[in-house]
Amino acid sequence: MGLLTSVAAQAASAADCPGHPDAIGTSRTIVVDPRAHLIIGTMQYAKTLPLEDHEVVLTFDDGPLPKYSNQILDILAAHCAKATFFLVGSQANGNPEGVRKVRDAGHTVATHTQNHPTGMDRLPLDRSRQEIEQGIASVTAALADGTAPAPFLRIPGLRVNDGIEEFAASKGLQIWSADFPADDWRNVSANRVYDLAIQRLEAKGKGILLLHDIQPRTVAALPRILHELKVRGYRIVHVVPATPDRPATPTEPQQWLLHPPSEMVAVSRWPKVPKFASSGPAVLAVPVLSDLDWHTTDLGVRTSRRGRGVPLPPVAPWPRQTTLPPAGTLAALPVPAASLFEIPESARVTLLALSAHRAASTAQARSTEVSSTKLAGKSRRHGRAAVAQPPASAGQAAQAPQSANGTTPKPAAQAKRNGRSVRVAGLKKR
Ligand SMILES: [Zn+2]
Repeated sequence: MGLLTSVAAQAASAADCPGHPDAIGTSRTIVVDPRAHLIIGTMQYAKTLPLEDHEVVLTFDDGPLPKYSNQILDILAAHCAKATFFLVGSQANGNPEGVRKVRDAGHTVATHTQNHPTGMDRLPLDRSRQEIEQGIASVTAALADGTAPAPFLRIPGLRVNDGIEEFAASKGLQIWSADFPADDWRNVSANRVYDLAIQRLEAKGKGILLLHDIQPRTVAALPRILHELKVRGYRIVHVVPATPDRPATPTEPQQWLLHPPSEMVAVSRWPKVPKFASSGPAVLAVPVLSDLDWHTTDLGVRTSRRGRGVPLPPVAPWPRQTTLPPAGTLAALPVPAASLFEIPESARVTLLALSAHRAASTAQARSTEVSSTKLAGKSRRHGRAAVAQPPASAGQAAQAPQSANGTTPKPAAQAKRNGRSVRVAGLKKR
């Protein structure tokens, strides 16, 4: 059914491109609410646009620069392919007509700071804010129709930091990283740009392609890229921001992951080790030594065991008794804080996918529940010495199943949401 729909969409888009039977067209438009997904693009983040397999979003940075941007617009027009342009404020000031051309061609106009500073992650935050706001103001002025650019922002060289991300979020701006570049800002041939675009797309199967509309090699490579995308069955998706009149395209959280969890792929992802903290004055009793029974355990197996055919001594040569501090020397241990057993809401996203996944977690939750009940029983038994705190153990037992439910596989990259930015090695300006 999905295949039929996409084939129909593709046929429709080609038919909608009069005079260009070989055009790839634009298969669909998705409406995105920036505030719902503030950072996207798997070059740096866990999430990306909610694309289906073989869907591509074209993005062009650094324009408008008439000499090349106009050619890029012509090529896209010949393919009826819609893209997102991240325009630089100073370029917009110098060529406001170019900004309007992008808009009038039906592409999404977004921003890329005022002066395209390199190493923006090292600028004082005030400078970064100014760059972002001025960039938006310049493009708004160039549009000259009272409208603002889309609240989509790409940081030059993708050099973001936490402060920039927080500022963008406070302004309702969605930071676009990318899923793959084609290195068209480097001194490489157009053929190389073409090869990289296709190979990197094939490696991920879908995603946001990062290109530059101010580079002659991009102009040279783009027709071949679009042609090859069509030959290989890829489809172009246009992205526009949500507005009060245009609600966001409904999506499920896992659609924002490049590779949503599948029952065909075995995963083993665990939450990060929590920061240990005690809950305060409450304590658990130290187990009494005699409860451990270690010195009376009959290790009968050992007598008959042979190491490489040589009988082992019937009695182990190491001392059977050790000197331990008398029971009661240590009166109590701190009770772990209940928050240790809580898994953040964001970590649950990947579990929403498939029933098999869910069934597995339920089974896991059950088994953990059993073991934690046992544990709780044990600590209650041990609780007869010193400062016994049955309520604390009971509380812990009640917490444990909840944490087991929440033991959601957490993609390593998803740690980003609250963690540090992932730097993209070697990705310089343009
Ligand atoms: Zn740039």
